[in-house]
Amino acid sequence: MHLSTNNFSANFSDILLKWYDLNKRDLPWRKTKNPYKIWLSEIILQQTRVIQGLPFYISFITNFPTIDDLANASEKKILRLWQGLGYYSRAKNLHKCSKLIVKQYSGKFPNHYSELIKLPGIGPYTAAAIASFCYKEPVAVVDGNVFRVIARFWGIKTDIASSKGIKKFNVIANQLIDRNHPDTYNQAIMEFGAIHCTPKNPSCNSCPLMDGCYSYLNHTQNQLPVKLKKIKIKNRYFYYIIIEMNGEIIMKEREDKDIWQGLYDFPLVETIKKENIETVLKVLSNKSLTFIIDNISKEYKHILTHQRIHARFIKVDVQNNNIDLPVEGIFFSKNEMSELPKPILINNYLNQYIF
Ligand code: SF4
Repeated sequence: MHLSTNNFSANFSDILLKWYDLNKRDLPWRKTKNPYKIWLSEIILQQTRVIQGLPFYISFITNFPTIDDLANASEKKILRLWQGLGYYSRAKNLHKCSKLIVKQYSGKFPNHYSELIKLPGIGPYTAAAIASFCYKEPVAVVDGNVFRVIARFWGIKTDIASSKGIKKFNVIANQLIDRNHPDTYNQAIMEFGAIHCTPKNPSCNSCPLMDGCYSYLNHTQNQLPVKLKKIKIKNRYFYYIIIEMNGEIIMKEREDKDIWQGLYDFPLVETIKKENIETVLKVLSNKSLTFIIDNISKEYKHILTHQRIHARFIKVDVQNNNIDLPVEGIFFSKNEMSELPKPILINNYLNQYIF
């Protein structure tokens, strides 16, 4: 693909580098070339805003100062520290990847994009970030910010969610990269997209690229980039049964291939539509079991990328000991529960009603 040239083509990267020098945020992972720290920050920042990811980065670096520390940690501890960040497969892959690097690479990250991309949980974006930031390999990072800046500045209308679009933007991004300063250039274009050429209300009037920007000249900032793929959202109805006996509550580890694998929640009745509570509680029907309903929560809505969870929590107090309960799980004290890795939905409920 050949980019149509204007007076700004040659200067695009120079302008971005100058802008970056003056405007970059002071962030801890920008002060290091250590691939472990760069990798950690990039995995944490996927699907996450900097302000939200920063405390998690600090917590991980504090708890696991080296890749060996991370590889030797228990998955439970890693998931517990990840609690609240979502997309828990990232944490599991983090662990898997750290073990593999310790075992197969003697704890040292490979120093080429082509090797990095083979590691678990490392896709084109993260491999490019590590290869360019740490080893100055001229390979472009292409995240949502980069798509936006390129689409607007060059007036590219190809759908960024299509495979054709992904390919095209990657080719352009790799043509634009500053081969002498690939590390700073990659940081600069991402930072520019994050804080200047923002999705809504970009700062066009103070933009150093405005005179060459297709979107500014044609008033298409709100139309670019084009993203056509609509994500289908599935509604799921979760009725959690909180069973308390002698001050302890049953929780269970989620093992199925589903959301929140490895995290702890409560015995669950899932339905495809709203259900009444009496029907849900039939799961506890056992002639010798006596319980009283202590509390029924309001509906909590929890939004994930492809799913909308409608959750209600029904707390029951079981009154007779030594009985076979018709649900799976283990009784935990409140202290033990607080140490378990849990989805944020469960954590919020516990904080509001139990702790
Ligand atoms: S002029 Fe506006 S749309 Fe164009 S690059 Fe600058 S901030 Fe983005």
